[in-house]
Amino acid sequence: MNFEAVIGLEIHVQLNSPTKMFCDCPNRPADPPNLNTCPTCLWLPGALPVFSRNVLEKAILLCLSLNCEIQATSAFDQKVYYYPDLPKGFQLSQFHKPLSKNGWLDIVTGEAETRRLRIRKIHMEEDVARLVHETEDHKQISLVDFNRAGAPLVEIVTEPDMHSSYNVMEFLKALRRQMRYSGSSECSMEQGTMRVDANISLRPEKSEEFNTKVEVKNMNSIRNVGDAIDYEIARQKDSKEKGGEIVLHTRLWDPDKKITSPMRGKFEGPCIPDPAVSTIVITEGYVNEIKARLPEMPDKKITRFIQQYGLTEQEASLISSELDLSLYFEDTVKKGASPRTVVHWLTSTMTSCIRERGLSWSDLPVSAENFANLLGMLERNEITSKATKKVLSVMFDTDKTPETIVKELDLKQVSDINELEALVEKLLSGNHDAVESLKKGNEKVMDFLVGQAMRESKGRANPRIIAEIIAGKIK
Ligand SMILES: [Zn+2]
Repeated sequence: MNFEAVIGLEIHVQLNSPTKMFCDCPNRPADPPNLNTCPTCLWLPGALPVFSRNVLEKAILLCLSLNCEIQATSAFDQKVYYYPDLPKGFQLSQFHKPLSKNGWLDIVTGEAETRRLRIRKIHMEEDVARLVHETEDHKQISLVDFNRAGAPLVEIVTEPDMHSSYNVMEFLKALRRQMRYSGSSECSMEQGTMRVDANISLRPEKSEEFNTKVEVKNMNSIRNVGDAIDYEIARQKDSKEKGGEIVLHTRLWDPDKKITSPMRGKFEGPCIPDPAVSTIVITEGYVNEIKARLPEMPDKKITRFIQQYGLTEQEASLISSELDLSLYFEDTVKKGASPRTVVHWLTSTMTSCIRERGLSWSDLPVSAENFANLLGMLERNEITSKATKKVLSVMFDTDKTPETIVKELDLKQVSDINELEALVEKLLSGNHDAVESLKKGNEKVMDFLVGQAMRESKGRANPRIIAEIIAGKIK
């Protein structure tokens, strides 16, 4: 029998609001342990939570970037359970009245069709404290860090609309891009600001039934999520074919062994309305006010880049993959560089310069003006492409303008015909075999000779003119 996988996701995202969710403590979980705490987020008896407006703004921005409807009223419930990272015995979360419902994102499937994947709801939730397991005097000890206690999270719950690991990875990439554009989270699975749990079940192909699902947790990259889903689909298929039954449970992904294995079930307590935090009432005017703060979103931007700058769809979508990258692209073009040259250099050499230095597009040390001027010199044939790479690399580490660097490193391209003629003359007289070979029509020799000329001129000769001169002399 052929099976179809049915996959839904639950995604926790850490909001980057300045404060925690119910107090004014800084929302910086990575600070030295227990630095950012107060009676409210240590959950001391009697300390009352007060919901932060700055958290609400970030959460609404995020929901709007995922095309969700903001609910006029939403409220917090107590999700009851006890664990050392939650000593008050319940977590404030929204169960009965979530902040937002009915979102969607479009993805392109493996068959190059656009498909709309639905988001059921997005609700807010406070994070729990962090347990740190250490060894002291040869004894295992567990410590609790409350910096993360009460940190703001949203949980995104999708409909089970995905059917392959490819669907899921494309969805997660689109989701991450939208949320990063909204400025409400860094959304890094590697750093734990985005955590993805996948619910996976199988059904016979072309049927509409929903079967018992298995939840898979503990993936720390989008690639990991894909691998875990592929593994789990194969495991369930194998089990079904052997006549086994799938039971509802949770499994952990082991990224080293590349397998999932069952984990102990956690006690799921009831969800009861919280009496302390007031109901959140949101007017349409307020939603519109926040909507106006969203930047131009990727889909619109890609269409505009294609029309306005003549980019291909692939180029436009590459350059819009991150907000800061797209802004830098446009700044550079406004300073006079030609759009497709900018795209080429941004997605190749510039990307490697950034990766080598562990930077991101938001902390680029090269100003758009300097970058545009550098590309201008290249386009006017004043420097070679090799020299451009060299200058760009120097620009990352100094404040000097490209003009200064070109002068200091003596990189100006030689286009003076007399100088180049002399260079070629010398080259040909020293390479008789190559010249004979070229005369017999061996085109590869031309590349060799041009390469020699470039080396002789320390990369400053104009390769196109060199080739023309050689061709003229061979005839
Ligand atoms: Zn606090």
